[in-house]
Amino acid sequence: MPECAISELGKIDPATRIRDVIRSVGFDLVFQPKVAFSHGKLGGIEVLVRWPEVVAGRQAPDQFVPLAEQHGLAPMLDLHVLERTLRTWRSWSALTRLCWSPFPISVNVSAMSVQDEDFLRSVTWLLAESPRPKLMFELTETAPFHNPLAAAQTLEALSGHGIQVSLDDFCTGFNNHERLDTLPVAELKIDREDTAKLDTIAGIRHVGQMIEQAKAAGLTVTAEGIECRDQWKTLRTLGCDYGQGYWLCPPLSASDAVEFVQDYTPS
Ligand code: C2E
Ligand code: CA
Ligand code: CA
Ligand code: CA
Repeated sequence: MPECAISELGKIDPATRIRDVIRSVGFDLVFQPKVAFSHGKLGGIEVLVRWPEVVAGRQAPDQFVPLAEQHGLAPMLDLHVLERTLRTWRSWSALTRLCWSPFPISVNVSAMSVQDEDFLRSVTWLLAESPRPKLMFELTETAPFHNPLAAAQTLEALSGHGIQVSLDDFCTGFNNHERLDTLPVAELKIDREDTAKLDTIAGIRHVGQMIEQAKAAGLTVTAEGIECRDQWKTLRTLGCDYGQGYWLCPPLSASDAVEFVQDYTPS
């Protein structure tokens, strides 16, 4: 795409801009490792979308992901991220033994996408090509669940393809306890706002209860937003399985992520 056309994107309405980015240069991806409390090594990687550097009017994902949802573009964005993730992973596996590694790559998927009729078909089509990584979909609920039945059917079908489901930002947004009973969920993610409150008795009790409840339902637990050693120690004591956060490792470029993977894969 010519330089001038890219800068022109700054003047168009938000939905058209998002669609144009997907169809032209594509969104950038960064990768944030998940670290296992048991051995301090890699337990997974989360993919996070970024506004491309070459496109004017940079926005944070907290701004443009909800805009994509409001304009019905969440399935398109999530499939775009999945397609780029698979491409990146294939380039990694050409470089390393990552192909055989046991940990999953987590991709954020809007509640809107799993209620979309064509989403499952497109995911199945993207996954037909092998090899492919172990995948987990982090179900974010910034968009409401109008059709829980359709979502449950899609997630069941995805489980059939070996894709695990994680409930992101549990207890925030629309994510709530009923989801544990109605959806095929493998992981629960504790939001960074809850991690930030671990310096109070009430905060520790709240997170402890979530971990207990998840364990009782047979789920693993990942806490996000770990910014200091004290939070790591408290979460370890509470029985949390995996941690993420700036104190452990910030989101990395694809080339830095592959180095992290090589250095921190459990032997
Ligand atoms: P999230 O899935 O809860 O992602 C965690 C956010 O916390 C990320 O922000 C990450 O960069 C940030 N973070 C990581 N460690 C720390 C820490 O120690 N402290 C603090 N304060 N923040 C930390 P990011 O990348 O800006 O993403 C924001 C949200 O946008 C995500 O929240 C997710 O809901 C959404 N999102 C990001 N990528 C995608 C995507 O590909 N698809 C969809 N549907 N949503 C996405
Ligand atoms: Ca997430
Ligand atoms: Ca989260
Ligand atoms: Ca969050």
